[in-house]
Amino acid sequence: MSLIVQKFGGSSVADAESIKRVAKRIVETHREGNEVVVAVSAMGDTTDDLLDLAHEVTPIPAPRELDMLLTAGERISMALLAMAIRSLGYDARSFTGSQAGMITDAQHGAARIVDVTPGRLREALDEGAIAIVAGFQGFSRESRDITTLGRGGSDTTAVALAAALGADICEIYTDVDGIFTSDPRIVKRARKIDRITSEEMLELAGSGAKVLHIRAVEYARRHNVTLHVRSSFNYNVGTIVYDPQKLPEGEESTMEESIIAGVATDLSQAKITVVGVPDVPGVAAKLFKIVANTNANVDMIVQNVSAASTGRTDISFTLPKDDGQKAITALSNAQDGIGFESLQYDDQIGKLAVVGNAMRTNSGVSATLFEALYEAGINIEMISTSEIRISIVTRADSINDAVRAVHTAFGLDAEDEAVVHGGTGR
Ligand code: ADP
Ligand code: ASP
Ligand code: MG
Repeated sequence: MSLIVQKFGGSSVADAESIKRVAKRIVETHREGNEVVVAVSAMGDTTDDLLDLAHEVTPIPAPRELDMLLTAGERISMALLAMAIRSLGYDARSFTGSQAGMITDAQHGAARIVDVTPGRLREALDEGAIAIVAGFQGFSRESRDITTLGRGGSDTTAVALAAALGADICEIYTDVDGIFTSDPRIVKRARKIDRITSEEMLELAGSGAKVLHIRAVEYARRHNVTLHVRSSFNYNVGTIVYDPQKLPEGEESTMEESIIAGVATDLSQAKITVVGVPDVPGVAAKLFKIVANTNANVDMIVQNVSAASTGRTDISFTLPKDDGQKAITALSNAQDGIGFESLQYDDQIGKLAVVGNAMRTNSGVSATLFEALYEAGINIEMISTSEIRISIVTRADSINDAVRAVHTAFGLDAEDEAVVHGGTGR
C-alpha cells in the first residue's frame, strides 16, 4: 500500500462541480489501494477576495486577524471536499492546520513550519478514511495563534505532510499540465518539462514562477520528498521535481540536460534608489542594516561608480512591493545620519530570470539573453547572476514582450500552444 499526498489548488476546487470532480479523483486513488491525504486550497479567488474585503475595512489589517480571516477560505473547501467524498460512499474527515499538527513559528503571513505532528491524520488513515487538510495554515505554540504560510503556501502544507507521514509521492494538482519552460498564460508556446531538478525549480520559484511555492521546493529537497506537478483537469503525466544527487544509481546518465530550464517573470518587486550616497567604507552596511531591520527581503543590488568630483554614488536595490513603504520610511528617518541626498521609489519594474543547470558549463547564455532583449527593444536596468540564473530588471509594461522574445531566443518554443485549464491567474 502506498501513501499518497495530493494537493489541489484553488482553481481545481473553484466551484461545487469542481469539488465533486476532485472528490472522484481522490476516491479513485483511494480505491486503487492507496492511503490518501489531501491538502486543499481555498476555492478560486477566495483568498484574494478576503484580502480585498479586509482592505475595505482598514488600510493596514492587524496581522493576527488577517490570518484568522484568510484561513477561513481553506476551511470552506476542506469541509465541502470531505462532504463530496462522503456522498460518494467513502469515509473522509477534514482537519484544520492546527488539528493536522501543522506547528509553525509565530510570524503572521509568512509563518515557517517548525514541527508536524500528524497523529490525527494517521488515526484517520488507520481507520480507512481519507484525510483532508486545510492548506496554507498552521498554529503557533509560542503565540497560541493561527498562522498562514504565505501566498501559495498550500503547496508547502502538502510537502510537509508528505515528509511527516513518509509518503511515497506528493502530487501537486493545478490548472496547467505541469511545470513549463515559462508561464503558459504569458508564453503561449511554453513547453511542458518532464523532469526538473529541485535546484532549478528553486531558482524559478524564487524568480516569480508561482506554479510552486518556493518553501515547498526547499522543504521537499531537505526532506527528500518527490514532487509530481500535474493537472487536475486531465490524467496526463506532469512534471517530476527531483534531486539529481538522490537519483537511483545509473539513472543520472540517462538524463538529457537542456541549457535553459525556464524563464520566469516577476511583477511583485519595486526598486529603491538611494541617491548621492557618500562613497566611504561602511555606508552600504548602514543602509542595508536599516532595511534588514524592517524585515524587507532585498533581492538585487547595484551600486554605480561614484563621480570623482562629488565622491558620491547611487545605490539601487529591489524588494517586494509589499515591503517598499516600510523600507522607505526607515531610510528617510536615517537620511541625516547617513548623509545621502534623496530616495527614489519605482514600483513599475519587472524582473525576468533565465534559469538552467547547464549554465555552469556553457558560456554565451548572457550574450544570447542580452541580444534577444536588444532585438526586442527592451532596456536593461539592472543585472544579477547566480551560478545557474541570470536576472534582469526592466519596465513592468515590457516584461511580457521580453519573456516571449527570450523564450524564443533560447529555442524553447513548443510546436503547439499550451492549454491553461482554469483559474483567473490572479
Ligand atoms: P494553484 O491554484 O493550483 O496553486 P497557481 O495559480 O498557484 O495554482 O499556479 C499555477 C499557475 O502558475 C499556472 O496557471 C500558471 O499561470 C502559473 N505559472 C507561472 N510560471 C509557470 C511555469 N513555469 N509553469 C507552469 N505554470 C506557471
Ligand atoms: N489560498 C492561499 C493563497 O491563495 C494558499 C494557496 O492557495 O496555496 O495564497
Ligand atoms: Mg499555488
